[in-house]
Amino acid sequence: MNPDIGATVLGYPRIGPRRELKKALESYWAGSTGVAELEATAAALRRSTWESLRASGLDSVPGNTFSFYDHLLDTAQLFDAVPERYRGLSTVDSYFAMARGRPGLSPLELTKWFDTNYHYLVPELSPGTRFRLATDKPLAEYREAAGLGISTRPVLPGPLTFLLLAKPSPGSPAGFRTLDLLDGLLDAYAELLGLLAAEGVAWVQLDEPAFVADRTPEELRALASAYTRLSALRARPSILVAGYFGRLGDALGVLAGTGVEGLAVDLVSDERALTELTAERRLRDKTVVAGLVDGRNVWRTDLRAAVRTAAALLGSVRDLGVSTSCSLLHVPYDLDAERGLDPVVRQRLAFAEQKVAEVVTIARALREGADAVAGELAHADEVTRLAGRRDDQVRARISALRPEHRRRPGFGRRAAAQRERLRLPDLATTTIGSFPQTPEVRAARAGLRAGRIDEARYTAAMRAEMERVVRLQEDIGLDVLVHGEPERNDMVQYFAERLDGFAATEHGWVQSYGSRCVRPPILHGDVSRPRPITVEWSTYAQSLTDRPVKGMLTGPVTMLAWSFVRTDQPLAETADQVALALRDEVADLERAGLRIVQVDEPALRELLPPRQDRQQEYVDWGIAAFRLATAGVSDATQIHTHLCYSEFGDVIMAIDALDADVTSLEAARSNMEVLRDLAAIGFGRAVGPGVYDIHSPRVPDSEEMRKALAAAVAVLPAERLWVNPDCGLKTRRYPEIEPALRALVEAAHAARQES
Ligand code: GLN
Ligand code: ZN
Repeated sequence: MNPDIGATVLGYPRIGPRRELKKALESYWAGSTGVAELEATAAALRRSTWESLRASGLDSVPGNTFSFYDHLLDTAQLFDAVPERYRGLSTVDSYFAMARGRPGLSPLELTKWFDTNYHYLVPELSPGTRFRLATDKPLAEYREAAGLGISTRPVLPGPLTFLLLAKPSPGSPAGFRTLDLLDGLLDAYAELLGLLAAEGVAWVQLDEPAFVADRTPEELRALASAYTRLSALRARPSILVAGYFGRLGDALGVLAGTGVEGLAVDLVSDERALTELTAERRLRDKTVVAGLVDGRNVWRTDLRAAVRTAAALLGSVRDLGVSTSCSLLHVPYDLDAERGLDPVVRQRLAFAEQKVAEVVTIARALREGADAVAGELAHADEVTRLAGRRDDQVRARISALRPEHRRRPGFGRRAAAQRERLRLPDLATTTIGSFPQTPEVRAARAGLRAGRIDEARYTAAMRAEMERVVRLQEDIGLDVLVHGEPERNDMVQYFAERLDGFAATEHGWVQSYGSRCVRPPILHGDVSRPRPITVEWSTYAQSLTDRPVKGMLTGPVTMLAWSFVRTDQPLAETADQVALALRDEVADLERAGLRIVQVDEPALRELLPPRQDRQQEYVDWGIAAFRLATAGVSDATQIHTHLCYSEFGDVIMAIDALDADVTSLEAARSNMEVLRDLAAIGFGRAVGPGVYDIHSPRVPDSEEMRKALAAAVAVLPAERLWVNPDCGLKTRRYPEIEPALRALVEAAHAARQES
């Protein structure tokens, strides 16, 4: 029998406390350093992670959590699921080609990892994919740690989650599903498990987060047969299956019925998980690793409550381990690196290192009794009682809200008033907001931050840029203009820095994908807007032209989705506070003469809970907050919104309920599919389906966009259609966007003739 798991974490950040891996990768990609330097940085990071996790007192240290880019990509390469187009390159070259592409070679698709802001690379599989062990990464890292005297628990995506997150490669036959490849993949897993066992590995962790979402009976049967088969192997480590980001639901019973030794469960994200566990009698023969410390947020854990939850499980399981709810990949490394945080806010926070210590404390309390950790428990009592900063004025406004604050008159009436005022043609052309961020713009922002240039020079630089962007749009012939967003580093951070109730960190970097990191703001207290945020910039841009300029704001759902949010009150309340601040901004923009205000909600789809039974509740508060932000304007002021990330199927009704006058959507790559979905529900407002895929440097010609528009006009009347790119242009360069936007305007003109 292998040792108990005890205290552990399901995974750890890997970019480096000072983003060492980011720097090493970028220097390698630029050709300034070679593979040896990159490997050396990686080895140093792995070593310091293992050593610090062991020194913190964890009983079981996770292994194979390091990745040069992404763990799904690692797994695809491990099992040789490498599409044809990358073959013939060396292992390193094909790895980075899949991640980033090369001239003439497109990368794998990048998409969001469940409802987090981490992105993974989507493996492409075809009926011809033959899995085999092509690298020895998990073994090699196990040996490397063993060489330091640390025996680790290799972590890998489970076979089902791997297949469910993969997609059929282009050109696969119609009926092909990635799940068809399960048998072959299990052969490869079986071989790997055999090698790990031979190496002396005691436990392996297989992550199956795909099963905290609703799954079909067939998928659950596949789960059962996969783990029945893997657990029947003679030579293998003990298997810990991890399900996180929600409760396992039916999958819990399925897994409990297989021969796997352990289950790691998330007891943070869904309060029903505990009941589900205690009701499952077959867990009496299993190790259960209780995810009691939130791996996705930055607050200190209520340790006493966590110990109580753990104690409630003791009688229902063979052995109880303690862990984080998911990998700590989603939080920054170390609170101690922060210097500038408000001391009260700071006391309430825990980053990865502090969370590891919390796990260790909970495990000690269970083993040695609460008295052994009395000091830690008392401290946690004190800091978790600290509430977020209260703003009575904000609270009074929230409690005075009435349904009419979230309601506008019917769309027909608004549309008439707006037509009268804006006098726009059918198939009006516009962009989503940002224009390319030139080196000069970045330099000016950095200069202001570093104190190298003063406010006046900065303002002059931004105004010059806005004027250039406005003139360019006029020259191209766009109907509705934007100011181009040169003053914004990031659409959430920009507003968070200007609202009370949010804090910024100095080193709180979290990996978003590859070498890209974000520093999510921390929403810790009641939110209010000390002064107008965008009004001066937008008014300036509008003063330059007779054409309407859109005011440009980030919506409440997206502000929450891309921040760490407080958990001491319902999300709905927090969202309403953000919405009220935005409502004031919208009102100020309207008063300043802006005729159109766009409130972006790119994260609307992303925050959707994995299980249907929680989706309505989310959609309700998300919509309520958006409407609170936008419903304060007169009929003649036009509200736009923008959503991205193609798969809108689950949120079609929500798009309707937002009640924006114009909704621009990502659609170029999905052939206007979303329009048909909208038409099917009788969507009555205006839509701007993206006709130009801005995610690629490719410049589309006007013929291509005209065809897309013809497809759109076949579904919705031209007076309710807008013509725009898929998303903001800030990641592109002028030589790409200028011809593309000219072609877009040409396509719109041609389509107007035809319709
Ligand atoms: N207005 C934003 C921009 O154009 C929207 C960004 C987004 O959709 N993520 O950059
Ligand atoms: Zn977008």
